[in-house]
Amino acid sequence: MAINYNEHFGECVQRVREEGRYRTFATLARKAGAFPKAMYHAEDGSSREVTIWCSNDYLGMGQNPKVLQAAKEALDNVGAGAGGTRNISGTTIYHKMLEESVADLHQKEAGLVFSSGYVANEGALSTLGKLMPGCAVFSDSMNHASMIHGIKGAKCEKFIFRHNDIEYLESQLRSIDIKRPKIIAFESVYSMDGDIAPIKEICDLAEKYNAMTYLDEVHAVGLYGPRGGGIAEQRGLLDRVDILEGTFGKGYGCMGGFITGSRSMIDAIRCYAAGFIFTTSLPPSVLASAHAAVEHLKVSQIERKQLQENAAMFKNMLRNADLPFMDAQSHIVPLIVGEPNCCREVTSILLEEYDLYVQPINYPTVPKGTERLRMTATAVHTQADMEIMAGALEHLWNTHHGLIALAMQSKECPANLAGAQA
Ligand SMILES: *Cc1c(COP(=O)(O)O)cnc(C)c1O
Repeated sequence: MAINYNEHFGECVQRVREEGRYRTFATLARKAGAFPKAMYHAEDGSSREVTIWCSNDYLGMGQNPKVLQAAKEALDNVGAGAGGTRNISGTTIYHKMLEESVADLHQKEAGLVFSSGYVANEGALSTLGKLMPGCAVFSDSMNHASMIHGIKGAKCEKFIFRHNDIEYLESQLRSIDIKRPKIIAFESVYSMDGDIAPIKEICDLAEKYNAMTYLDEVHAVGLYGPRGGGIAEQRGLLDRVDILEGTFGKGYGCMGGFITGSRSMIDAIRCYAAGFIFTTSLPPSVLASAHAAVEHLKVSQIERKQLQENAAMFKNMLRNADLPFMDAQSHIVPLIVGEPNCCREVTSILLEEYDLYVQPINYPTVPKGTERLRMTATAVHTQADMEIMAGALEHLWNTHHGLIALAMQSKECPANLAGAQA
């Protein structure tokens, strides 16, 4: 009997739909120079201007004139693609320049650029683990999927410690032979809650128990520290972390990932990581723009300062409106709804009635029952933008509060939520 593959995959998708976590993408065209405004292209073919509230282009570097100019010049000078893997004719002066730039950013001997932050984490962690027989990896329970996949690929013993829980981590470290090689893998700013790791305390434990430290600073590079080196730089801890990882895709507004560390560690990853070796390297225009963004933010404080001011101002507005946002230490502002369909409904009202775009964050990105809006008041949002968003949320929460509360209790979105709009 023939197997009906299409029916099978249709059923797989149906399961996702039933759980309320079927993902629909919003099609947007940002306007360079006008971000956070963008054209939203709806399913029905119509389009209109909206304000983006969930971008990771935290500093607006994606439209910075220097960044755009660098990309244009590289494109005109050397053409579109790199033309090969790094090993086979795909290494350009732009790679060299960018790797020197990130090594300097973190005051490390060497840097290595990957296609994305995801590939950097996956490649680096899987390689480090594989190259150390008997290695054990200690991984924060809230680590990003890219780190989890890297650690899985390393195929070594794995301990998952309770999020940011130093005592728990120590009890796990203590449980195995001090002579075994160990990696502690964690993030600085956690992307979904916006909280920050106790980096110093983790480094102290690493020293005490003979472990290497691997820190994902994806949501912090460009944003924190006097030169944008991240939270480790801000706290004066760069030299205590063995490998730092970051992206050019978020605060730097471009694309690509990187790691920095000692020459021997970086060289080993360069030699062994499949995700680094067997893929065409990033195009020069992207590398040139990333380089311009990194260098600009080593010097300029304006964007960082504006981001912090905006985040504080926006949080204040939400606080005054009594909205249940998570008040973490970073620029990320999560507002918990607690149920996936309800979460989607709230975002669809925001988009349809207020022209405010914020994507619902549902399981498995966050635990079930903590579905949320994850908002970012970037450096380029105006006070008026923030007042509009806070006002819309306040109105929604006031008119729907009973329904949202009910949804959180019953874990079900009331059918009349959209209809109950005042
Ligand atoms: C986004 C993200 C990554 C991946 O970076 P990309 O450059 O987008 O692939 C890695 N770690 C964390 C914590 C992230 O949020």
